Amino acid sequence: MSYSPSIARLIEEFARLPGIGSKTAERLAFYIVRSSETEVSGLVAAIEAVKRGIRPCSICYSPGETDPCPICIDSRRERDVVCVVEEPKDLLSIEKVGSYRGLFHVLMGSLSPIEGVEPDDLTISNLLKRVENEGIKEVILATNPTTEGDCTSLYIVERLRHLDVKVTRLARGIPAGSHLEFASRAILSDALSGRTTFDNDGPSDAGE
Ligand SMILES: [Zn+2]
Repeated sequence: MSYSPSIARLIEEFARLPGIGSKTAERLAFYIVRSSETEVSGLVAAIEAVKRGIRPCSICYSPGETDPCPICIDSRRERDVVCVVEEPKDLLSIEKVGSYRGLFHVLMGSLSPIEGVEPDDLTISNLLKRVENEGIKEVILATNPTTEGDCTSLYIVERLRHLDVKVTRLARGIPAGSHLEFASRAILSDALSGRTTFDNDGPSDAGE
């Protein structure tokens, strides 16, 4: 016995979402089957509203209601420092610290050979263009201290090597394997101010 075509289709659509396996997709589909029509229209309307009103900033890829985003057009920010993060939520974590005054670049993920995420799936080539064309003097790599995050940072360092730019990374205050979003404000603040230079011989003190 198999599911009716419309249920099978909904399961298929859910299974396409990141981090949703077939079991979870099935559970979500049957949650929708059980839900009232009002609940379902609320969900559909929320999805459509995001699609209509939210777009990635064409400079930093942070999603928002305006393009360019408020950070990219803020003339009070330091325009020659770019903090590179994996996801929009990481940008928010760093903004909450309150001490960072530079710009951002959101990669929209991290490199993962296992999940088939390659450099072209991220916004790395646009980051390189920004560094080359916009007078960026420092790139702060603020990827998560995970295997994927480290791998992504190393790849970017390689790609930036021929350019005249200082490349730093967050100090190692955030536990390995953890994520920026779970770091306390104090730890993130220390990680930012104590950031170290990435060079050919590995990290050394940037002398902040
Ligand atoms: Zn932006």
